[in-house]
Amino acid sequence: MTGVLSLLPEGRPGLLAAPADGSSYRAAGGRTPLTGPGRLLDRIAAAGLRGRGGAGFPAAVKLRAVRDAGGRPVVVANGEEGEPGSVKDRWLLRHRPHVVLDGLRLAASVTGAARGYVYLSDEQAEQAVRRALAERPADVPVEVVRTEHTYVAGEETAVVRRIDGGPALPTAKPPRPFERGVGGAPTLVANVETLARVALIHAWPDEAAGIAGAHLVTLSGAAGAALVEAPAGTHLKVLADLRGHGRAEAVLLGGLFGGLHGAGWRDLPLGHDGPAAGGAPGCGALHFLHPEDCPVAVTTEAVTYLAAQSARQCGVCVSGTGALARTLTAVARGAASDDASAHLLRWSSQLPGRGACGLLDAAARTVATLLAHFPDRVDAHRGSPCRACALPLPHDGRRFAVRVP
Ligand code: SF4
Repeated sequence: MTGVLSLLPEGRPGLLAAPADGSSYRAAGGRTPLTGPGRLLDRIAAAGLRGRGGAGFPAAVKLRAVRDAGGRPVVVANGEEGEPGSVKDRWLLRHRPHVVLDGLRLAASVTGAARGYVYLSDEQAEQAVRRALAERPADVPVEVVRTEHTYVAGEETAVVRRIDGGPALPTAKPPRPFERGVGGAPTLVANVETLARVALIHAWPDEAAGIAGAHLVTLSGAAGAALVEAPAGTHLKVLADLRGHGRAEAVLLGGLFGGLHGAGWRDLPLGHDGPAAGGAPGCGALHFLHPEDCPVAVTTEAVTYLAAQSARQCGVCVSGTGALARTLTAVARGAASDDASAHLLRWSSQLPGRGACGLLDAAARTVATLLAHFPDRVDAHRGSPCRACALPLPHDGRRFAVRVP
């Protein structure tokens, strides 16, 4: 059972507490006319809003780049959530579609876009968005585009390729979508939480910094799951305690993207300005590893899942994720050669940055952090598996999956 909890200070506007239907949202201050697109852009920049799809790029810089690229831009609300442990984007589209569409409308005004898209794979989210559009049509034509649900379908170049009628697979960069995107036009591909925060900043400008700093976080692990909205700087210990994860010995940060964090994870602060050790929240998914979970087993499941999700377009990704997954599986089974750790270490430092998208980096980072934080646990598998690793280790990501509340 997934719960929904807000840790925002009393009275601060948030996404979990935002009105669910269009008329209540308007009555509360949403969807007001935009008189100064430049002023809103300055406000977003001053508040320090960063993208919530994973990379954490400054939202104002991306908006400005699309606006200044010339031509008639396109804006896309990206609700395709590839991380198996994240539910925030589907929850937003299912339960707060008006706020996301308000953010899309504002992004279109700021960039001068002629049309917009909502990109998703979730059927309930699609129905909610279509109902919201029928209730109150957008200021620019908005089309809903459905895609298949894969780890890479929400990557920004895959989004453009799919909307243009192709497969939802990443392409090489440059050009990036802000230079040449949908139909060749400069295109803003923005995560739906980012757009929803733009809408809240417009409606409650005095609260802009708090709105921009807050995060939607999906918690998961053996003790239970939850969708939480928390202010920037919240320590991971506070989030863990909400669902009984306080005994966890490690956490996977940012879905499968931010790596494994061992001792000291409790003091990591939520936010993009956290320590280099890993304060960056990525898509905001946290998977806690309890003492009965084996870090080798969890990493093996994560990497074999990523290998299975490879779009198989880049040779280095096919061979790299395959080698990582095979070697890790051998380690987990207690059947690896003596130089397995040395191979894993070398590959995890050589592979990042060599694929067309972030999947290969995610696999390499997860392995590198396992070796860095749990060398003794890896060594303990020499010759025989631990109890957890002797069980089947599925490669469909089911360990990390969370039901949308
Ligand atoms: S890095 Fe992997 S998943 Fe990404 S585009 Fe290349 S083959 Fe596909």
